[in-house]
Amino acid sequence: MGGAEAFTHDFLPLFRPVPPTRAGVCRICHSGPNDRGDGVPWPTCASCKRTTEHLYGHAEYVVPISLTAKNTQLYDVLVRKNDPNGTSGRRRRPDFLAATVTHFFQKHGRCLQGCAGGPFTVVATIPSTRTEQPAEAFDTMTRVVSMVGALASLHRPLLLEVVDTYAPVLANRKSHRKVFRVRGDRLDKQRVLLVDDLFVSGAHVQSAASALIEKGAAAVVTLVVARHINPDSKDPYSAGIWRESCARPFSFAHCCLCDPVRGRGALKRRSREDFADEVS
Ligand SMILES: [Zn+2]
Ligand SMILES: [Zn+2]
Repeated sequence: MGGAEAFTHDFLPLFRPVPPTRAGVCRICHSGPNDRGDGVPWPTCASCKRTTEHLYGHAEYVVPISLTAKNTQLYDVLVRKNDPNGTSGRRRRPDFLAATVTHFFQKHGRCLQGCAGGPFTVVATIPSTRTEQPAEAFDTMTRVVSMVGALASLHRPLLLEVVDTYAPVLANRKSHRKVFRVRGDRLDKQRVLLVDDLFVSGAHVQSAASALIEKGAAAVVTLVVARHINPDSKDPYSAGIWRESCARPFSFAHCCLCDPVRGRGALKRRSREDFADEVS
């Protein structure tokens, strides 16, 4: 896909930078963790703790291109499946997603490979079952990846969701190693890039990663267009992550793995006074 950089330039205001991992930022998904009780944050958020335990294996790296929150245009593009509106007008949603992934992978493919221990040999996508609309004629992310030059030839339709049995597990934002069945031969020594549109709890992503690892994959690194953040979350850090993200300009020049802001100190935890202000 040519011109991904020019295409995404028209939509830069939709994106929010993702903070690198540091104290107060989940080391897996980059949202806000809880405190351990002594004012020190857990290294992972409550969602990642819940969705990575009891699995065969999980993705240690979830790399969001952007953060998003409810009542933002990017969230509506990802959840309500709206076409996005940029500075040069409205564009088709799959084209927007493909340009976003293409541009990001051009700039940060090496960052992602570094997490996998080498170049990716397989690209997988998660079948979308969470849409409120009737099943789409074909899966959005399959279509999106087919438009991303660097990934299209590596994509394999590996994952099949065992819908009926495990839907209640996913509905509870929990993962299970048997949610997805992996088609085909063993994946021994394969480095898998798992691509999805929106990361909320990680139940789908980590269930999929577990199935791929159980099938033999040497590494599973997850690239998501956006990580959902709840600024009203009870954890002491998500509000600050969102505030900091909204105060910084987004650029495709950095990702959460190579951002120079990495050297900054721990994220300020939300104080009791902040809570009191919001309640009053
Ligand atoms: Zn997390
Ligand atoms: Zn990077």
